[in-house]
Amino acid sequence: MPPADASPYLAGLPKLELHVHLEGSLRPATRARLAERHGIELPTVGQGVAFRDFDGFIAAFIAGMRLLRDESDLVTAVEALAADLAASQVRYAEVTTTAWAWLHEKRCHPHAYRDALAEGRRLAAVDHGVELRWVIDIPRGFEAPDAQLTVGLLDSPQCPEAVVGIGLGGPEIGYPASWYRDSFERARAAGFAALPHGGETAGAAYVRECVDVLRADRVGHGVMAVEDPAVLALLVERGVTLEVCPTSNVLLGVAADIESHPLGRLRDAGVAVTLATDDPGYFDNTVTGELALAQRHHGFSDADLHAMQLHAVAVCLADDATKARLRRELAEHAPQTGPTNAAPA
Ligand SMILES: [Zn+2]
Repeated sequence: MPPADASPYLAGLPKLELHVHLEGSLRPATRARLAERHGIELPTVGQGVAFRDFDGFIAAFIAGMRLLRDESDLVTAVEALAADLAASQVRYAEVTTTAWAWLHEKRCHPHAYRDALAEGRRLAAVDHGVELRWVIDIPRGFEAPDAQLTVGLLDSPQCPEAVVGIGLGGPEIGYPASWYRDSFERARAAGFAALPHGGETAGAAYVRECVDVLRADRVGHGVMAVEDPAVLALLVERGVTLEVCPTSNVLLGVAADIESHPLGRLRDAGVAVTLATDDPGYFDNTVTGELALAQRHHGFSDADLHAMQLHAVAVCLADDATKARLRRELAEHAPQTGPTNAAPA
């Protein structure tokens, strides 16, 4: 799917990215660099191509994970992602990382994981002007519900700094969100936000479960909520924002094409959304490109997309000083005209 051309206004708009996976962000140049570093063959993974299905994507993702071997690779991945985000004028990002893959699979020790994330975050701010926070997610299908490895890290002295939430990724069908209720309750009690994926590859009931059982602060994807007006109403009533990733959904077959993507229907139902890239290393997309798709195919005006960034500031998990700085910068980039259609934000 070719990315839509962005207008100069969208290209220059300061942005937030609230749904991107560090381990899914490696573009070909970074993959090649890592393969060379370790003297291993570059795994063949498609980029910007449709995957057969979600399982096909997971298989490609796991093949790509072979390139991430130790803590120095972690820093490399964060630096490359920060450069990518800066190119889209992203000033603030909440980046999901899967600690399980690093710790359970023994790529590095918890203290090395913690220190590498801190170093990557420092470089992102200093070299690229991108402020990062972390979301550490439970990989469904890998971490058993009662293992509590992910929340155990969050709840320990080895927890990396600037972690703001617990996530839930991986396949949905066969792995109900309710299995992870204990991990989410423990994380919430320790002060972390609940940021599960839901309603991506499974239906509206999975979105409801994220909201009702895991008490989600935001839901990753959630696009299948359009199947059930009651779930749409629940999202509006509870003020739950969806992190919508249109290109990801099209390439994984969640939506047939960008025109029929649920984005417009979510907006029309009054559900608040942000736009995000998910796994740009596999989908060959950018934050700016996602905004351009929403503009071209779903009628979002410059004012709508500006308002969406302000909404992202409101629902992100940054400290007050960072939020104030982001709002100031967005105020300087207000579009010339008022909203032309009802902004969900
Ligand atoms: Zn995701």
